[in-house]
Amino acid sequence: MQTTKENSKSTDSQNTKFNFDYAPALESTDIVQIKDRNLLFIDGKWVAPSQGKYFKTINPATGLPLAEIAEASTKDVDNAVKAARKAYTKTWSKLTGAERGRYLFRIARLIQERARELAVLETMDNGKPIKESRDIDIPLVAAHFFYYAGWADKLDYAIPGQKVSPVGVVGQIIPWNFPLLMAAWKIAPALACGNTVVIKPAETTSLSLLLLVQILQEAGLPDGVVNVITGAGETGTALVAHADINKVAFTGSTDVGRLIAKTVAGTNKKLTLELGGKSAHIIFEDAAIEQAVEGVINGIFFNQGHVCCAGSRLLLEESVSEIFVEKLKIRMQQLRVGNPLDKNTDIGAINSSTELEKIKKLITTGQNEGAEFFEPNIEMPDKGYFQKPCFFNRVSSAFTLSRVEVFGPVLAISTFRTTQEAIAKANDTPYGLAAGIWSEKGSKVHKVASSLKAGVIWANTYNKFDPTSPFGGYNESGWGREGGRHGLFPYLNTKQGAK
Ligand code: NAD
Ligand code: MN
Repeated sequence: MQTTKENSKSTDSQNTKFNFDYAPALESTDIVQIKDRNLLFIDGKWVAPSQGKYFKTINPATGLPLAEIAEASTKDVDNAVKAARKAYTKTWSKLTGAERGRYLFRIARLIQERARELAVLETMDNGKPIKESRDIDIPLVAAHFFYYAGWADKLDYAIPGQKVSPVGVVGQIIPWNFPLLMAAWKIAPALACGNTVVIKPAETTSLSLLLLVQILQEAGLPDGVVNVITGAGETGTALVAHADINKVAFTGSTDVGRLIAKTVAGTNKKLTLELGGKSAHIIFEDAAIEQAVEGVINGIFFNQGHVCCAGSRLLLEESVSEIFVEKLKIRMQQLRVGNPLDKNTDIGAINSSTELEKIKKLITTGQNEGAEFFEPNIEMPDKGYFQKPCFFNRVSSAFTLSRVEVFGPVLAISTFRTTQEAIAKANDTPYGLAAGIWSEKGSKVHKVASSLKAGVIWANTYNKFDPTSPFGGYNESGWGREGGRHGLFPYLNTKQGAK
């Protein structure tokens, strides 16, 4: 009772009518066992890195180390590629699609069985709220394996008129924002199509993939079919440059994507790149405003804004802009930033101090450029790497915040008067990953959607993912698609003439 009173006092003084206080509801970490030292996974065995080097991974919510991770050298990468080649030639390419599908189904079921463990570990290593890792990331990971398991024996029907075959050994590099989900997006279609894999997680979030390896072993996946090499940029460079890789799949920043494209140019390697974004939400005056506010909140503050397709630009029709911004402020006042393991937490920790610094620097730039800045008056944790959600209002398209990807909970707001202006502003970006359109008028939604240069367009919702739906971008947001039937194409060679 005492606490309730105190809290209502403090909320009064902050003029925040809606700030409820919940008792903490911490998810237990007992279910997770983290080894102090984590090795590489090559040819079905845990092996020490050849140069004996390890680095630390931390829990960004506390700033404290969780474990040591092996750093794979060029030699380790070579061993992993050799193992993958051997597995490709001797076992995996000899199996029928139905047999490969069976492994994938088994993996999907084991992921479901160990979902809680995976979710807690992901939250500890990445900093994302448990309600997201538990309700979004891990269910989608299982769903991807289920979905591509279904394709494994139907590949002959995937591309009408074409005979398909696997590409061989694929090198995959993933980022830290959805560690296990990005691994699933890469591994599941690769295996379904008959390829073998060497995959490198991001250096700050290796642990969930190392746990997935245990699941692959439990599923009896043959040795060498999936190999995990942990490490940072140098390890990634060695993988991309390896001569016996047939395909590179990369998700990460546009800068690294460019480097990779250069390395791969002039070789026979296939390449897919999923890069950054500066995606726009367009709110028309006839939109359901309350839902749109919720969609905008979800679009930019979900996962601390660590989402490549985050709705980081908000374009408001002028007639509703003031009321919308007011409602947005009120809603932001209710957001709970805090311990990611607490089930009430909306916004967790920024993945690393480096990322937090990048975000802070861009916020300072935004303030210096003179846009109107707003941040809610909410409590912040006193340790770990956290960023208060915020927005800049009345940004012009020349402002840094309109152009540069922040990759944090920072929104840039501007207005428009006509549909043409909205489309022009939304397309005024070097990226083109996603967009959100909010209007109750279906014909308007379709018209605008067909004019937007973005790979994924949501109408009256945002950040909804499904394994059956292709995902990918235009321009500097990347090449190729992942997910759905389209997600099979990069993992298949094709030849004219159906069976
Ligand atoms: P990053 O490019 O720094 O790192 C991504 C991965 O590449 C990591 O595993 C890293 O170790 C590795 N890497 C770094 N340098 C490398 C090199 N020279 N050669 C090979 N590999 C190298 O990106 P990040 O900071 O980890 O992730 C954030 C970025 O990823 C954002 O720009 C975001 O938009 C993008 N992203 C895009 C998608 C998408 O699907 N389009 C999804 C998630 C993240
Ligand atoms: Mn970490």
